[in-house]
Amino acid sequence: MTITGSCLCGSYTFEVDEVVGPFEVCHCNRCRKKSGAAGLPMVGVLARDYRVLSGLDAVTTYEAPLLGKPPPYHSFFCKTCGSPLPPPDPDDWFEIPAGLFDDDPGVRPDKHIFVELVPAWDEITDDLPQLGLRDLVRGRRSEELPEGHEMVTHHGTRIKV
Ligand SMILES: [Zn+2]
Ligand SMILES: [Zn+2]
Repeated sequence: MTITGSCLCGSYTFEVDEVVGPFEVCHCNRCRKKSGAAGLPMVGVLARDYRVLSGLDAVTTYEAPLLGKPPPYHSFFCKTCGSPLPPPDPDDWFEIPAGLFDDDPGVRPDKHIFVELVPAWDEITDDLPQLGLRDLVRGRRSEELPEGHEMVTHHGTRIKV
């Protein structure tokens, strides 16, 4: 069944045949600033299952300065309404901000990531797994961060993880 989605002003519309996941709520500073929320829920999709129906010319891109290793963090958003959007030229697998869906994508959040950066005014109250930078580096790159590693979280801010 086709799942549709759109931005706030409705210029950008898309459809997806199915979502493959994962469905992560990212609390990193950049996703928080992009969304203005305590965390940004993002759903993984394959490019071959995804079609932009309108508004590709509304997508504006901001590339943030590198904090760690490439690739750089990109923010894609609608130039009219500011809704966060998927990348205009997605790779094989990419993520869609879950709030854009107008239909039930059929999947549910499966984890929280960058939980060190959950803001002081928010609290995770569900039972989903909570992964920090150390867990993510181990899982995604099969690397172990050294003791006392300093994570650069935003322009010049560091925390020990
Ligand atoms: Zn819009
Ligand atoms: Zn993030």
